[in-house]
Amino acid sequence: MTYRILDASGLRDWLAQQPDLSERLGSEAADWSIREVSDGNLNTVFLVDGPVGALCCKQALPHVRVAPDWPMPLERALYESRYMQTVAPAAPGLMPEFLAYDADLFLIVMECLTAHEVLRSALIADRALPGFSAVIGTYIARSVQATGWVNQPFETGARLLEQFSGNTALTRITVDLILTDPYRVCDRNPEPEAGLREDVTALQNDQNLHQAVGRLQERFLTVRQALLHGDLHTGSIMLDGSDVRVIDGEFATMGPVGFDCGLYLGNLALHLCAVPHKATFLRDEMLAFWQSFSTELRSSLSKEGGDQWALSGPASRQDLIETFLNGILRDTAGFCGLEMVRRTVGFAQVADYGVCSTEKDRLLARQKALQIGQTLVVQGASLRSFSDILSLMGL
Ligand code: ADP
Ligand code: MG
Ligand code: MG
Ligand code: MG
Repeated sequence: MTYRILDASGLRDWLAQQPDLSERLGSEAADWSIREVSDGNLNTVFLVDGPVGALCCKQALPHVRVAPDWPMPLERALYESRYMQTVAPAAPGLMPEFLAYDADLFLIVMECLTAHEVLRSALIADRALPGFSAVIGTYIARSVQATGWVNQPFETGARLLEQFSGNTALTRITVDLILTDPYRVCDRNPEPEAGLREDVTALQNDQNLHQAVGRLQERFLTVRQALLHGDLHTGSIMLDGSDVRVIDGEFATMGPVGFDCGLYLGNLALHLCAVPHKATFLRDEMLAFWQSFSTELRSSLSKEGGDQWALSGPASRQDLIETFLNGILRDTAGFCGLEMVRRTVGFAQVADYGVCSTEKDRLLARQKALQIGQTLVVQGASLRSFSDILSLMGL
């Protein structure tokens, strides 16, 4: 079968021809109910409900879903399916179960998270139970454990590089939208609100800032510490109480671990700017994130390691671990800052600002995010502890 964009009835026909998937749904195709829930920028997502079970079906479109005149290669679905299969064994229960991939339709079928809600929506509605960030810290540490240069022989990284280096279309989005566009005049940037124009002009003319952004570009494009999720914002996480799952790994690429950490924290920090009275809650989440990430990584590294471990006894191994973590911390600060800036002035902004009740509050929230973001970008490389990051956020 050749590629075609599936609607609900096309998907029903296709599923009816897949015995394993039909069996999970139960009964006859006519008894399945299908609803589209796409809310991301790129792809179509359908949830299919049958008398026995449910499925989630995600199809890549040949263009950006929210910008049909922006073409986008279909292969991102292949990389997402590879990512799920690569990380799932190391992170049991932390992602939806991968069920099938159709290479002609660029379609992924996975476990349907029926009771779950997207973390960003849960935060906005003030429904997220504390503790989700510790799970995300664990998730990143485990994916580093399975794919990272410090944990695995270099051949593992070489194979992953081969499997993911072709994901250039989505890496291009990252390079443009996160690492370039907010700092230049560009058609993709939306017109800023009047009160923010001066701040945007300042971003475009600050040479010192541009040098720091350039250093982070270099980190992102040349450091291959582990397989990254690549788009780990609060819209790529779903939760049901304490059951937390990571979705949407289509940006997967080998890169610096601090990129995933920074995107995640950057989205919590954006929420903080929009909803400052939640400072204690968000500070606790950020601390719990770093605590679980660093504890889990330290413990896995003290037990086993990649090639450099062959050279080190326990004491120098401790030094290597701390040096590695400090490097991740500095990258985390920088990428966190970049995420705060781009989600405030760039192409794909965040719904969190919608919580502000007046236009004035919204402007203040955005200005705050730009100020914190730029400071993190410029000063990130000289930070020494996680509390330095929190201090720069006013926490
Ligand atoms: P995109 O790549 O277009 O951003 P996502 O993978 O983020 O697509 O999915 C878009 C939306 O579909 C999510 O925000 C969520 O609401 C829903 N969704 C995605 N995966 C699942 C799943 N496994 N179970 C239930 N809903 C899901
Ligand atoms: Mg998404
Ligand atoms: Mg629920
Ligand atoms: Mg996506």
